[in-house]
Amino acid sequence: MGMPPILSPEDADRAVLLAAPRGYCAGVDRAVITVEKALDLYGAPVYVRKQIVHNKHVVADLEGRGAIFVEELDEVPAGETVVFSAHGVSPEVHRQAEARSLKTIDATCPLVTKVHHEAKRFANEDYDILLIGHAGHEEVEGTAGEAPEHIQLVQGPDDVAGIVVRDPSRVAWLSQTTLSVDETLETVAAIRERFPELLDPPSDDICYATQNRQLAVKEISAGTDLVIVVGSGNSSNSVRLVEVALEAGAHAAYRVDDASEIDETWLEGVSTVSVTSGASVPEELVNGVLSFLSDRGYPDARAVHSAEESLIFALPPELRRDLKAAGRV
Ligand code: SF4
Repeated sequence: MGMPPILSPEDADRAVLLAAPRGYCAGVDRAVITVEKALDLYGAPVYVRKQIVHNKHVVADLEGRGAIFVEELDEVPAGETVVFSAHGVSPEVHRQAEARSLKTIDATCPLVTKVHHEAKRFANEDYDILLIGHAGHEEVEGTAGEAPEHIQLVQGPDDVAGIVVRDPSRVAWLSQTTLSVDETLETVAAIRERFPELLDPPSDDICYATQNRQLAVKEISAGTDLVIVVGSGNSSNSVRLVEVALEAGAHAAYRVDDASEIDETWLEGVSTVSVTSGASVPEELVNGVLSFLSDRGYPDARAVHSAEESLIFALPPELRRDLKAAGRV
């Protein structure tokens, strides 16, 4: 703990604003609980393809309890149980699992599954599908794998000029669930300028949690000296929160995995610090950042509410079935 902080006159103006909502979304919560319950029910090890959610602390914690994270299914011994991550997998991965007689539990977020269904429907209707997203992201790979012949990736407005389609009157767009809302609107506008008959997805692909966290970070960013976003570097929605904070008027914004990554110099001359976290971040990591600030003379955080969330997803049906059979529900 050390010495109590020595306050200077400027300290009276200090404030810490805490975004609400922040942190875990319904899809992440479900995915993490899925692995925990699978470990309880089947015993260690339980294999998980890719990081269950994009947070290194969550992954390390589950590893400590007996989960083994693999990149691809050929690393899983035949007959073992494997959990698919919240980001979703392509049909090819399901086929590989079947070929290797793996027992699978699919923790794909239902809101990602919704985008997969949209991709299949547009492909069945023979549309060219423009998938707005980031190359190499697992969710994009999974969605694109639903209809590889029909889907092409568009990473932003700069890609639009190079798009080649078979019939400009039969083009639809979809997106990754964790993009910047504003940037995606720009990209869609640029696509629509080229293809005026562009078909929209039936509902927003950018999920409620991504939208709410961006709205919340905007509320706490305008005019603030410093925004700290808790989240891992491979977490798309966390990285977007830093960008949104800067666009909304924060003087500086940084992403940290936890309080240990905060650079003391960021606080020099800073009165207002705003804090938020990505959709895959446990609240204890945010609490660590608030303690760090408190130890340096900042007051208790004031929550700024911009949306209420109450969504909960049921666990994957294959896990519920086994839990029920074992009398664990
Ligand atoms: S960020 Fe959205 S799409 Fe991703 S797991 Fe959470 S709710 Fe699902």
